[in-house]
Amino acid sequence: MSKSEKEQKNPSQVAPPKAINPRFKVKKRSGALDIQKLVEGILARDRVALGQAITLVESTQEKHRKQAQDIVQACLQHSGKSFRMGITGPPGVGKSTFIEGHGNYLIEQGHRVAVLAVDPSSQVSKGSILGDKTRMETLSTHPSAFIRPSPAKDSLGGVAQKTRETILLCEAAGFDRILIETVGVGQSEIAVHSMVDFFVLLLLPGAGDELQGIKRGVVEMADLLLVNKAEGDRLKLARATRKAYRNAVHLFPAKTSGWTVRVETCSALQKDGFDRVHQAGQQFLRETRGTGHFERNRQEQAKYWLHETLKQRMLDHFFEHPQVAKLLPEQEELVILQQQNPFLAAELILAAYLREEKP
Ligand code: GDP
Repeated sequence: MSKSEKEQKNPSQVAPPKAINPRFKVKKRSGALDIQKLVEGILARDRVALGQAITLVESTQEKHRKQAQDIVQACLQHSGKSFRMGITGPPGVGKSTFIEGHGNYLIEQGHRVAVLAVDPSSQVSKGSILGDKTRMETLSTHPSAFIRPSPAKDSLGGVAQKTRETILLCEAAGFDRILIETVGVGQSEIAVHSMVDFFVLLLLPGAGDELQGIKRGVVEMADLLLVNKAEGDRLKLARATRKAYRNAVHLFPAKTSGWTVRVETCSALQKDGFDRVHQAGQQFLRETRGTGHFERNRQEQAKYWLHETLKQRMLDHFFEHPQVAKLLPEQEELVILQQQNPFLAAELILAAYLREEKP
């Protein structure tokens, strides 16, 4: 397909990068960070500038947080023009293989693809997903792709907030397809679901979701159920699984988007079925933009993240407070020894905190 044909096929697509400067410098001579220059770099699609800005977003230092906020704020009006897709599924189902294959497919269609991850378990395992970039060899070296592993050493709330800010930066840098991977365990799916437009759950042929360790709530959150490894001996079983899910989804609660859940098969390894995934996504975009759900959902998500960030910041402020840091271990000890009632201990710590926080 020629370049102009591709552009016609994807009219929403953003123009190619103006310049990529491998020696991008954002430090002033004084050593201070030039926020304006960094923002300009991001908008000029400079990956070094984008990487530096994300590092600031991920930093736990207050100084960096402030700089990151200025950058995100400046990029906000240039963000939002992407299709955000969440990908989940149990370990071993083929998420990385799918993201690499589908990412390359999207690039062939003329898109620019950013791959992010939300992996709260990386606190323990130091980055189990996307950590090993060699798992996405072809994608990670492609100039139209940007891969960023999950920010480590943080709570799920912290990881999710940072990923959300990173999405905005990637969009400002012209990435129009954002793929966000998360592991199919725990609360991370809810966090990812609340920051994407379209949510894909990868399944294995044969086993039901309970057997695969996937919670019913996660199955019901998905917009597309994708039975992976549908090839060779497993093809028949994969098709039977697809049929079973197609019957089952009618029993799921109706979605506010009005979208009817799609069930498809694919083989990430053999690069088969990416067109079906793409078509399902395009149809979802058409339908939900038509009904206004797409925009409404993004507005709801922005509101949700305001509330989530507020909660997170309040919690951080509280637990980092010197009075709380001093009293909490003391009260914990008393509570363990049953010399103090836990509720009274909480009241006591809260009262000490509020006393000091009074203007
Ligand atoms: P993840 O843990 O969900 O990210 O799964 P991976 O992408 O790491 O894949 C786990 C294993 O399944 C790897 O050995 C892959 O090569 C394999 N795999 C992934 N997709 C397919 C597929 O479509 N067919 C087959 N046969 N194997 C696959």
